[in-house]
Amino acid sequence: MVELSHTLRHFKNSIGNGWLRLRQTGLDLLLPPVCTFCHVDLQDDHESVGLCHNCRSEICNLDESVCLYCGNPTSDASVKEGSGCPYCLGNPFLFRCIIALAAYNGKARTAVLQSKYLDGQPLTMALARCLLAARQNEIDAFLPDLIVPIPMHWTRRLKRGTNGPETVAHCLAGKLKIPFSRRALVQRRKTARQSELSQNARQRNMCDAFGITKERMVYQKRILLVDDVLTTGATCNEATKSLLAAGAAQVAVAVLARAACEVSG
Ligand SMILES: [Zn+2]
Ligand SMILES: [Zn+2]
Repeated sequence: MVELSHTLRHFKNSIGNGWLRLRQTGLDLLLPPVCTFCHVDLQDDHESVGLCHNCRSEICNLDESVCLYCGNPTSDASVKEGSGCPYCLGNPFLFRCIIALAAYNGKARTAVLQSKYLDGQPLTMALARCLLAARQNEIDAFLPDLIVPIPMHWTRRLKRGTNGPETVAHCLAGKLKIPFSRRALVQRRKTARQSELSQNARQRNMCDAFGITKERMVYQKRILLVDDVLTTGATCNEATKSLLAAGAAQVAVAVLARAACEVSG
C-alpha cells in the first residue's frame, strides 16, 4: 500500500515536472529569454542566471582584493585573514563578515539602482543568482539557518511596490533551501535616505530604527542578513544590533554591491 502511494506520488511528480518543463519550453519559444539588463537574446545555459556574458562579467566586477571582514575593496596588502582593513578597524561592526557580489561602480551600480524598483525585479533575481554562483562557498561556510532581508518602512514599500533586498533574500532562501522571514525584522520608524547623508548622519539616522517582531524565530539562529548595497555599514550594523539583542547567535551580511569607504581621520 505504501509502495503504491509512493509510486502514484512519483508518477504525479513526473507529470507535474514534465508539464512545467513543457510550459517553460513553450514560453521560451513564444518569449525567448533575454538579458535582464541589456535585453539581448540569451544564447546558452551559461546565461541561465538571466544575464548575458557581457553584462555578467561587467556587473560581477569584484576582481580587486577586498577586506575579508568588511568587504571593503582595498589595495592594502597588509589586510590578512583574521584582521580588518583600516576602515573596519575604525568602525567595528557587530556582524561577522560581508559577502558581496560586486564593487558599487559602473554597470554594477546602475544594475543595483534598477533592482530597487518593481520593473527591475527580474534583474534583481538574476543578481541574486549571480551572487550565489560567485559566493556560495562563503555563504555555506557561515552555515546560516535563517535568511532575513533589511526591511523597508511600510509606507515606502507601499509607494515603491517592492523591496529589492527582500527579493534577493527570497531568491537565496529558495535556492539554498534555508528558511526566510520578511517579518522577523521590521523598520519601526521612517528614516531619511542614507544615500543623502554624511557618514555620521547615517549612523544617527539608523539609530534604533529596527525592531524584532518574532524573537522566537531569531533566537539562537545564525542569520544571513541581506541588503542591496552596503556603503558605511550603518544600516546593517543597526539591524545586526537588533537581531543580536533578540538572541540571534551570529549575523553575516550578504549584499549585491559594496561601495568603497574612505578611512576618515
Ligand atoms: Zn546583457
Ligand atoms: Zn575592513
